[in-house]
Amino acid sequence: MQRMTRQRIAIIELLRNQQTFLSAQDIHDLLREGGVNIGLATVYRNLQAMYEDHTVDTIRQEGTDIQLFRYCAEDTHHHHLVCRCCGKTVDIKGGGFEQWARKIAAENDFSRVSHSFELYGQCSECINHESGHTLK
Ligand SMILES: [Zn+2]
Ligand SMILES: [Zn+2]
Ligand SMILES: [Zn+2]
Repeated sequence: MQRMTRQRIAIIELLRNQQTFLSAQDIHDLLREGGVNIGLATVYRNLQAMYEDHTVDTIRQEGTDIQLFRYCAEDTHHHHLVCRCCGKTVDIKGGGFEQWARKIAAENDFSRVSHSFELYGQCSECINHESGHTLK
């Protein structure tokens, strides 16, 4: 078990209060705004370590290489449904997708197979907001 640095604790506290996925840069900016003196490289290093010990989930921002992080209350294997407008995120179960992935791996004689799978869309609030504007 790694020693919890004050910086690590500050990052965890910040992420616990965020519902959306954030980039290392966003997290760094929010920490600095909150008066935490921390460098971007330190934020990034902590996030990587937290990802490795499953404290945070990570995804790639849709259509980019930017890595985003989120503290997820759900600690068993799951996926994410992400609103591309406001970033609202719902933890979802893979359902039949998990069996399909295992079956494909077995059929092709692959083991230690992992997958990343996220769904991106628009949440009802963003849709309503949008249609509210067009009605004017
Ligand atoms: Zn999650
Ligand atoms: Zn939304
Ligand atoms: Zn899965």
